[in-house]
Amino acid sequence: MSLTLVTIPCLKDNYAYLIHDEASGDTALIDAPEPAPILAELNARGWTLDQILLTHHHWDHIDGVATIVEATSAAILGAEADAHRLPPLTRGLIEGDVVQIGGEYGHVIDVPGHTVGHIAFYFPDSGLAFTADSLMAGGCGRLFEGTPDQMWHSLCKLAQLPPETLICSGHEYTASNLRFAATIDPDNAALQARITRVTAARAAGRPTVPSRLSGELATNPFLRAHNPYIKTALGLATASDAETFAKIRALKDKF
Ligand code: ZN
Ligand code: FE
Repeated sequence: MSLTLVTIPCLKDNYAYLIHDEASGDTALIDAPEPAPILAELNARGWTLDQILLTHHHWDHIDGVATIVEATSAAILGAEADAHRLPPLTRGLIEGDVVQIGGEYGHVIDVPGHTVGHIAFYFPDSGLAFTADSLMAGGCGRLFEGTPDQMWHSLCKLAQLPPETLICSGHEYTASNLRFAATIDPDNAALQARITRVTAARAAGRPTVPSRLSGELATNPFLRAHNPYIKTALGLATASDAETFAKIRALKDKF
């Protein structure tokens, strides 16, 4: 039995996710940008929220926690390393820890770079990875706290997950991420096809998340810093993968 996944648009361009195990009735929320749309979704589905899993400390991922906990008494789980700047944690998490939703297990993966305490949650049985502002659809988070080396290492960990994994990321930035990607990887046919699909989805008001890891590997320039064609096009033929990643990230910051 797979977890049921619900994608909830929040604020201007954030996403929260609900996962629900039908057999046990267990429900978890990943990130809490704002309470109203999340509580409305729980109410509409008749689900009782048990756990809130937090990816990182930024306000647009935690601001809804207090109101949601007041309404649901859900437990709060997040990175132990960031306990001082997250809402009061019921349980602090470190890499390798496991969270449980019904009969399914979610593995905690350290993915520093956007912030130093950023974690991801990977549920292998359902093929879901909650990556928030680390690996994003067509891009990756800005390096507010971590180094390019840290983010490259984080992305390499996520790139090792099974290619069919659904990447549940934190923002609707895909269209602009792919416009940038096309400047790095202009002859990539898979990228051009994805731009067409994303443009149609946005015109129809549909989210472009979750996205499949296989598609990210084929089109996301931040996962392609090892690609000799991309290195050469950037004038970095002999650079390391991490150096190439750093260059792509710096170009994106100015895009
Ligand atoms: Zn963030
Ligand atoms: Fe964010």
